[in-house]
Amino acid sequence: MTSAAATGLERGVFVGGSVEPLEGEPQTIRNPATGAVVGRVTSATPEIVDRAVKAAHAAFPEWSRRSISERGAILRAGAEAFAARVDELAPGLVAEQGKTFREAKIELRRAAETLEHYAGLAREVRGIAVHGLDPGVEGRVLRRPLGVVGAIVPWNFPTTLLCNKLGPALLCGNTVVAKPADTTPFTTLRLAEILTEAGLPPGVLAVVPGTGPVAGEALVTHPLVRKVAFTGSTPTGERIAALAARGAKRVTLELGGSDPMIVCDDADLPAAASAASMGRFYNCGQACLAIKRLYVFDAVADELIEAVAQKAKRLRVGIGSEPGVHIGPLHTERQREILEDQLARTLDAGGEVLAGGGRPDDPALANGWFHEPTVVLEPPHDSPMATEEVFGPALPIWRVRDFDEAIALANASPFGLGSSVWTSDLARAEHAAAELDCGYTWINSPTKVYDELPFGGVKASGYGKEHGSEALDHYTDQKAVVVKTAVR
Ligand code: NAD
Repeated sequence: MTSAAATGLERGVFVGGSVEPLEGEPQTIRNPATGAVVGRVTSATPEIVDRAVKAAHAAFPEWSRRSISERGAILRAGAEAFAARVDELAPGLVAEQGKTFREAKIELRRAAETLEHYAGLAREVRGIAVHGLDPGVEGRVLRRPLGVVGAIVPWNFPTTLLCNKLGPALLCGNTVVAKPADTTPFTTLRLAEILTEAGLPPGVLAVVPGTGPVAGEALVTHPLVRKVAFTGSTPTGERIAALAARGAKRVTLELGGSDPMIVCDDADLPAAASAASMGRFYNCGQACLAIKRLYVFDAVADELIEAVAQKAKRLRVGIGSEPGVHIGPLHTERQREILEDQLARTLDAGGEVLAGGGRPDDPALANGWFHEPTVVLEPPHDSPMATEEVFGPALPIWRVRDFDEAIALANASPFGLGSSVWTSDLARAEHAAAELDCGYTWINSPTKVYDELPFGGVKASGYGKEHGSEALDHYTDQKAVVVKTAVR
């Protein structure tokens, strides 16, 4: 069991290139699996946020004037330094977040890969020239960085979700003030230290742990912040967009999701069952992009439902740092309460529990926020599991008559983040890709996100793109220049 005294984890904010001493009224961070104290961290006040933003603003002119290849080289060095420390950082991420050791290592590696991806794009970014606008008149479109970016992320993947923003923002010449979730500050502070040791100039990146209403709103409303890159829940995203309207700040919103998965009668059922189990229970179901509703054709429903329920029953719930554990705890007591409430309201309305359904009875897990992987068959289509985002290990499954019914039900959600379809009929797959109202469709594939492709939702899942070269558009302004040349 980790304790603050044993680990000495007492950390302040990261401003001006180093972690400052603990100050103010610190936040205590607890291990979601054991309740043990992991450490204490400064909870940033508006004054501290102001200091961080001013440092980032002061660092902007020099950073933005460097060549893009130099910024890319610094990002690459940072990515390599971070990747080299995955084994060292993973236990800390497990302790503060609750995920399993394997999941922590995957997350940390993915964070480094994303930085590396954007470092590579340094050699690809091109401007646009328009010749002959008028006789002797040439046009150009310049990409200019925006200035200070406020990056706000949740606790489910603290490092990857931040690196999705840092990669394109820093490459394009912006400076960043990052606010991690108030419960997952430590690995993010280490990330900032490692990037700085690898060459990121002081001030270019600040990390201000703290609460949403205090540190988050101070960042969003700060007059020197030009863009807010937000990942989190839909209600918070809506509030942030409203706050950012003052000053006409740019906003990117990566919000909640309730991704449908459609399994047709000609699908590879074992592969689909594996993808459903992984897609729903990975990270204890706490992922924006996760299979949260499963629709299966009647003709193959019995076989698929049985396979998914069996997989859920076989998953081992436990403390993330222990070997052989597949699923850690929910991140907080509140997250488990929300899940339990959604399940209770759903089951009051109907549905049958095929696996799990409650807290594990292992006394060794009594101090953590654990919940069994749960499968519910046929809850009503207007019940919470169908209409709300379920941010935990619980999967509803419905039988459908045919493809049209599946598409209609899949689209009958306020969210539009991801989706997947399993079929061996190419025409049906293409039809689904065109019809599913969301930002990503996987065909016969687990729901893996690629740095090469744009990622982002529609409807209540937000707007703007991360990943892909498309993300660069969200961290640059495109400026038109007209040149009257001497040559006619
Ligand atoms: P949340 O919205 O409560 O918090 C996210 C972040 O916003 C935290 O850092 C929090 O401190 C901050 N925040 C809260 N209130 C704020 C305010 N008023 N002003 C400024 N900042 C504020 O979300 P959560 O519950 O911590 O995270 C889970 C949610 O995130 C889920 O809905 C999930 O789907 C979503 N998510 C989306 C993506 C995506 O890429 N679309 C990825 C991961 C998670």
